[in-house]
Amino acid sequence: MSVSRVGVIGAGTMGRGIAQIAALGGYPTVLYDVAPELADEGAAALREALAKGASRGRWSEEEATAAANRVETAAELDELGGCDLLIEAAPERLELKRKIFADLAGALGPEPVFASNTSSLRVSEIAAGVPRPERVVGMHFFNPPALMKLVEVVAAERSSQEALAAATEVAERMGRTPIRAKDSPGFVANRLARPFSLESLRMLGEGVADAPTIDRIVRLGGGFRMGPFELLDLIGLDVNLEIARSFFRQGGEPERWRPSPIQEELVAAGRLGRKSGRGYHDYGEGRDREPDPDLGIEGPILDPEQLAKVDPLAEQVLSRLFAQIANEAAFALEEEVASPGDMDLAMRLGFNWPLGPLGLAELIGPDRAADLLEGLEAERGAAYAPAPGLRRIITSSG
Ligand code: NAD
Repeated sequence: MSVSRVGVIGAGTMGRGIAQIAALGGYPTVLYDVAPELADEGAAALREALAKGASRGRWSEEEATAAANRVETAAELDELGGCDLLIEAAPERLELKRKIFADLAGALGPEPVFASNTSSLRVSEIAAGVPRPERVVGMHFFNPPALMKLVEVVAAERSSQEALAAATEVAERMGRTPIRAKDSPGFVANRLARPFSLESLRMLGEGVADAPTIDRIVRLGGGFRMGPFELLDLIGLDVNLEIARSFFRQGGEPERWRPSPIQEELVAAGRLGRKSGRGYHDYGEGRDREPDPDLGIEGPILDPEQLAKVDPLAEQVLSRLFAQIANEAAFALEEEVASPGDMDLAMRLGFNWPLGPLGLAELIGPDRAADLLEGLEAERGAAYAPAPGLRRIITSSG
């Protein structure tokens, strides 16, 4: 099937951005919200964003005007008639999403494809009870949708190839890079990012290094734009803790996903990150960090001599981090969460990583990663248990 008209359900942070790129991709786009004034507000905001993008040269004035003219708002579900793909970006509640799709099925009949932008619910559970569940897929966009290139197209248990193909085609025409993901906890990018914070928190807890040192090592030697603790402060420790708890529950409580007790304590003490003025770093006046020196290093690297210029602890910190990232990728490959190429794309596009997890696995070497984790497992327990396939993990050199 070919999609000729797109509907977006929920005109909040995500919905308005998704509608913007649908319209820029050439689709007549209808934006619906349960509160009609929010649909109008969303449409006005996306028109403003289109004009701003044109003034910054991201697209031409003509493209912005044409895209703005493709956007309509709807106050009732039946005004979404003629939409072949409905992308739902309503609040993250299973029952609400189920009801939205059931109501849409009632209003629009059996044909249209339904895509949920859920980040943490199982798409198969959302689809259960929706008439013709095979038309339900996940389309997981990243925030802000107009800037982030990644879209995870999630195949639920019963999703048809036709529905998956329609979602993929629309993502491409929106100028995004779609990858295919299995309907599994956190899908691809959020899951593969777990060790970035969790292993850093374990190192902090053991006293390997303090948060500013780990952040600096990860930026300067790892080539990441932000260290793990700066990122946690930006996301909000409370928000991240909820995500951590959800992964832990959904994954059957594996030790490596156990939420950090340090984070639990900080959240309980109201240290939530930037928004509360303090998290792992202090954001009082004048406390923004100093710019990094140029050491002439293009991370990520594990070369001990080069890393010694960054910090005496850099090799230890990065080896542990990369080993755990490789390990999570090995578990995910075993579970067929995504293809190796899609995993690397997900992390580079979804989180701006300098290399994907398989690239990092290649850098450290699968055997070295497994040896390191086995040693840590003996010392520190099951959070370090290597995935059965870690030594055989696919790296680009084979
Ligand atoms: P939001 O709260 O900004 O927007 C949700 C919108 O849905 C609101 O405008 C609300 O009025 C509307 N809504 C509520 N009930 C509705 C209904 N029955 N029908 C139609 N609209 C309804 O939320 P958001 O941050 O845009 O998140 C939306 C979805 O996207 C969630 O599933 C979330 O998990 C997912 N997501 C969010 C992000 C993010 O960073 N914000 C990233 C990826 C995915």
